[in-house]
Formats: sequence, structure tokens, C-alpha cells
Amino acid sequence: MKRQLNDGPKIRREKEIVAKMIGIYCKKKHHQKALCEECQDLNDYATNRLSLCPFGEEKTACAKCSIHCYKLDYRQRIKSVMRFSGPWMLLYHPIESIRHIPIPGKLRK
Ligand SMILES: [Zn+2]
Repeated sequence: MKRQLNDGPKIRREKEIVAKMIGIYCKKKHHQKALCEECQDLNDYATNRLSLCPFGEEKTACAKCSIHCYKLDYRQRIKSVMRFSGPWMLLYHPIESIRHIPIPGKLRK
């Protein structure tokens, strides 16, 4: 039996956010105009995890999730993306950031 892929508004939004964060990371770290192969691969992986997330529209932020569905190397890669792009997201997309980013102490007012 094939599971239906998540396609609700929340999941779609999370995909957009992840794509933005990977985009910022690649642009600033790898100096690419479009995503480089490595970042594209990570983005595909993250998108796929969201499509298959067993919580679907009920999901919490991935960092708080008990399942940890990411494979170890992808988990480490997405973590460095989040850490790097988090502060940029606060600047560019403050609303989307709130749920996702563990705000470093020095940025808190
Ligand atoms: Zn890249």
C-alpha cells in the first residue's frame, strides 16, 4: 500500500521555508546563484521527508520532533543550514522564523 504524500498548507509552507534557508546557505556559503548539487540534494531530501512526515498537518517543528526521521548525515547538514541561515531568516522572513529557529541568546532582546 502506498501512503499518500502530505500536501496540506502547513507542509507546503514548511517546504518553502526549508528551501529558503537552504537557498540562503548556498548563496552565502557556496556562492552559487542557483542551488549547487549538494544543496539541491539536501533540499530534495528535506522536501521528501516533509511529504512523508507521519504527523502531516499536525507536525511540530522538526527540531522538537521525537521521531528524527533524517538520516544522520542529512540531519547534520540540515542542522548547519539552520544554524547558519537562522539569523538571516530573522532579517528576511521574521514571521516564518519564529517557530523554527532556536534563537541564539545574543539576538534576543
Ligand atoms: Zn550549496
